[in-house]
Amino acid sequence: MDASWKIAVIGSGPAGFYATGELFRQQSWDIKVDMFDRLPTPFGLVRGGVAPDHQKIKSVIKIYNRIAENPNFRFFGNVEFGNDIHQSDLLKYYDAIIYSVGSASDRVLGIPGEDLNGSHSATEFVGWYNGHPDFRDQVFDLSVKNAFVVGMGNVALDVARILAKSPEELAETDIADYALEALRKSQIENIWLVGRRGPVQAAFSPSEVREFLELPEANVVVEGVSLELDAESRKILETEASKDTKKNIEILRQISQSQLPPKKKRIRFLFFASPIEILGNGKVEKIKMVRNQMVKQADGSLRSQATQNKMEEDAGLIFRSIGYLGKPLANLPFDQKSGTIPNECGQVKDSANGNSLRNREYVAGWIKRGPSGVIGSNKQDSVETVHRMLETFLAEKIEPGQNVEFLDIVSLLESRSLDYVSFADWKLLDIFEVESGQAQGRPRRKLTSISEMLEIIRKKR
Ligand code: NAP
Repeated sequence: MDASWKIAVIGSGPAGFYATGELFRQQSWDIKVDMFDRLPTPFGLVRGGVAPDHQKIKSVIKIYNRIAENPNFRFFGNVEFGNDIHQSDLLKYYDAIIYSVGSASDRVLGIPGEDLNGSHSATEFVGWYNGHPDFRDQVFDLSVKNAFVVGMGNVALDVARILAKSPEELAETDIADYALEALRKSQIENIWLVGRRGPVQAAFSPSEVREFLELPEANVVVEGVSLELDAESRKILETEASKDTKKNIEILRQISQSQLPPKKKRIRFLFFASPIEILGNGKVEKIKMVRNQMVKQADGSLRSQATQNKMEEDAGLIFRSIGYLGKPLANLPFDQKSGTIPNECGQVKDSANGNSLRNREYVAGWIKRGPSGVIGSNKQDSVETVHRMLETFLAEKIEPGQNVEFLDIVSLLESRSLDYVSFADWKLLDIFEVESGQAQGRPRRKLTSISEMLEIIRKKR
């Protein structure tokens, strides 16, 4: 048997690629990596999550492409872990598995009316405008006037910005064709951003909120007296607040002072408010909210607490954008509350089994630490996991191939008639998408159905 280490990486987003890159950086280790993804396309949230008008952020793909050029790397797209292949299969073919599957679900508000037509998760909307095959058939009623986005993170700002941009601006991006057409006809006038806490606690980044100063088709307002900070928030701002928080406040002040002629749309930042009910006859018609006050906790942080002061607004669309949540994987422990796989520095920990550590299973990225940070944060996270894995091999005196029964997963995939997509196949699709985009002056035109993707690959092979 070949004396190299064989590692399976599940998920081809940033965490999976950074882990692969770190494995290949180990000069004294002979390592081969097979990466699996349930979609025919790699790069996870870089393709399906990063906003289409943020092409610069997507340039990290260049790094992942370089990693994929390593002759010890193989990509198996269109192969779903838990459906096409299982943990028990992979443990027969690989010395170890790294799960970097991200956070595929999202948190719910848990309020009455949340399931009404017109109430959606930001995950669905983001997946839809980014052409993710899972969300291409979603329908959003953009004929309404008032949209509410609940949450004050970067995803909420992405959703608000995409709703606020003009068709001409969106037409220069790689937004899905059907989304561009639907947004072209949008009647939305008011886009509310609702934060349960104040501007000092907002989770968005200055670079994201700064873009709101330059929207050609939307005025931006900060509702109420949110920027007249309470004594506690002022103290936090003056003492312990991060540079980013200080910048956020500066930008929000600029926004609230700017006096521009009225534009077609209006983005309204509403701080210190929480939705308590969504009302409507079969579909969203109104949103009921409560004003919050800040209450200091024992650890010094400020939490929102409902007051008696309620408000009701007309609403046609509501997006909850209050954080992603991981999904459990078969035969792996799972912490329901954090939506992560319990682990110690990336090594999977059987919390129900005396916290014993699994020597051959590791996690990286959001399924390891939860949905936080920017793309680059996954690098350090994956590096930690890879080092823990290699240290474990050494400490436990595990030899390459020691636990492996079979040589090459390809025979298993073929025996199951799986129509897998290699990295070379993906490159064919990539070129096709980029070329058809360029013909329209766009960075790419995405294919959004898996069968269409496979058809193009078959034709171009
Ligand atoms: P996030 O940054 O964690 O923000 C979640 C927001 O939801 C917070 O404002 C939070 O408020 C609020 N929230 C949570 N539970 C709530 C509840 N029950 N009711 C009302 N509000 C609630 O999550 P995200 O926006 O989904 O982003 C995920 C990660 O991706 C973040 O690390 C983000 O920075 C990153 N990302 C980055 C970019 C970029 O760099 N351009 C773009 C998109 C996403 P509290 O603070 O009060 O909990």
